[in-house]
Amino acid sequence: MGRVIFIGAGPGAADLITVRGVRRLAAADVVLFDALTDPALRELAPQARWVDVGKRGFGPAANQEAINARLVREAQAHDVVVRLKGGDPSVFGRLEEELQALQRHGIDYEIVPGVTAALAAAADSARPLTRRGSGRSVSLTTAMTQLGTLQATRSADTEVFYMAGRQLGALSRKLREAGWPAEAPACVVSRAGWPDAITSTHRVESLADAAVLHAGRPAVVTVGAGALALDRPTVTADTQATSQTTPQP
Ligand code: SAH
Repeated sequence: MGRVIFIGAGPGAADLITVRGVRRLAAADVVLFDALTDPALRELAPQARWVDVGKRGFGPAANQEAINARLVREAQAHDVVVRLKGGDPSVFGRLEEELQALQRHGIDYEIVPGVTAALAAAADSARPLTRRGSGRSVSLTTAMTQLGTLQATRSADTEVFYMAGRQLGALSRKLREAGWPAEAPACVVSRAGWPDAITSTHRVESLADAAVLHAGRPAVVTVGAGALALDRPTVTADTQATSQTTPQP
């Protein structure tokens, strides 16, 4: 009987996986991965058999039970099974169901965290999720309920919505219903963490404007304190003089 290592691959580009994740991958016999992960990650485990259990590999109706069963079967047959998940395994990754399946069969596991999309989006847009004085809390929220309906909330100073990219107009309306002011800042980042990431900034009332720009790309929507652009620093006479004589990189 082997063990299963859940590894957060980060939001996309292979170099955003952690050093620990790289080390564990190098020891894998089998890697079960989802569709979103970068093919370059394969180079970190050329010795392993790579199995696509995402929608492409299992068909659009890929059900979680089939993935759970596959995980158990592979762990019974191999020493080290890696379950590679986009972002962080603990954030909207159905980790609890996979852990429960392993626990039912007495299979050992380890979890290696990863960079979740909200954090990569904050980095790409240079919009810190927390702000001294105005942003004391952050909520990671899925815009999709289990039944596939859209829901929005206002439960934190900064709210980051996952899985809303296709319904930005509807999200805008739901945000208003949830009590966000029409002019509250909103920021959309698609393919965060990739070289071709796109960031756009809006107000809650005009979020629908982002739909075309981000169409077909995984996106997160940040609303509230963490979506606000930083004030530009006031340039003083002194720094102006310096910047004229210092070559820019
Ligand atoms: N476990 C993942 C989330 C999986 S849910 C994590 O921690 O990031 C899938 C949703 O994540 C997508 O609908 C999208 O909202 C978001 N997402 C995943 N990768 C992304 C990326 N590179 N840029 C922006 N959003 C991303």
